[in-house]
Amino acid sequence: MPETNRVWRLRKRPVGVIGDDVLSLEKEAIPQPGAGEILVRLNYLSLDPTNRIWMSDMDQYLPPVALGAPMRGVICATVVQSRAAGFAPGDVVSGLGMWADYQLAAPGALARMSPVEGASLAEAFGLFAVVGPTAYFGLLDVGKPKAGETVAVSAAAGAVGSLVGQIARIKGCRAVGLTGSDAKCRWLTEELGFDAAINYKREDLSAALQRACPKGIDVYFDNVGGAILDACLQHMNLNGRIPTCGLISQYNATSAPAGPKGYGIILMKRLTVQGFIVLDYAPRFREAIGALGQWMRQGQLQFRVDVHEGLENAVTALRLLFTGENRGKLMIHVA
Ligand code: NDP
Repeated sequence: MPETNRVWRLRKRPVGVIGDDVLSLEKEAIPQPGAGEILVRLNYLSLDPTNRIWMSDMDQYLPPVALGAPMRGVICATVVQSRAAGFAPGDVVSGLGMWADYQLAAPGALARMSPVEGASLAEAFGLFAVVGPTAYFGLLDVGKPKAGETVAVSAAAGAVGSLVGQIARIKGCRAVGLTGSDAKCRWLTEELGFDAAINYKREDLSAALQRACPKGIDVYFDNVGGAILDACLQHMNLNGRIPTCGLISQYNATSAPAGPKGYGIILMKRLTVQGFIVLDYAPRFREAIGALGQWMRQGQLQFRVDVHEGLENAVTALRLLFTGENRGKLMIHVA
């Protein structure tokens, strides 16, 4: 083991895009596990849009990361020392941890990961830790799609969105993806089997939605909020459902959002708009992992990971989520 640890600590609340001075990478002593604790070494650090939320002090679903504290993250790690029953050196675990090479955890914070047939550790971690269950429960439990319906999804070429469209297809729905480049649109329709894709940066959204969703939208899986939500609201069918998964267009905003402007449609079309947080589904993760794994093995589901090297590059890589330059589930490989 090296003598020093590296820990990213939050120094400032970000304003707008995450600046270089928001976090600092500190050299510190490697902590020693106390009774009932395990010491783990970071293998992969998941980078998620919600990291930006945790850095801020807005109202949120977990306490904001305190100034000076290690940055919180979803991790995949290997047990180095164990003073807790049920964990042994070499066990691979995942769950909520921190942006640090070495860290202590209490049993319960991290769960043991089993190898997944046909998937690398990065793929298994990327798919099952957060985004797979998010797409699965958000679409099926909240969106309640029925065969023959039209499901539209924003950030469709991203980690959650690409799964949502593929699950919609598996369930017999028309899948329409909104994303930010022609190359991503082609990937959705030519490789993932989406029925249509819209480049929201280039096309007139209303006309494009009319073309791609000729029978209207029954489920709009919202990953972004803002102008795209407003455009989709105008095309919702009677009794449509909107799982509100994320609002990434607003995470870097420096003023309150002006909309949604089409709020009245919720009344006129009797829509159900429901926010959800995947952590609430933790007791049912096994169900999602089982279904997603089976669809992968049957060749019905593709999943792309975008792995960057080095804990020191975490902040630079995280910013890619907000420019659309990530290509699949973004993560850092550490050791
Ligand atoms: P992605 O892999 O989808 O990456 C983010 C993508 O968002 C970018 O690639 C970009 O794609 C798009 N994007 C960025 N900025 C904007 C913008 N201003 N307007 C429109 N699109 C934008 O990330 P994830 O799959 O990890 O997350 C997707 C969403 O799901 C996020 O909102 C996240 O917060 C949410 N989420 C919610 C969870 C929950 O429990 N509710 C759990 C996990 C994620 P493009 O090129 O298409 O613009």
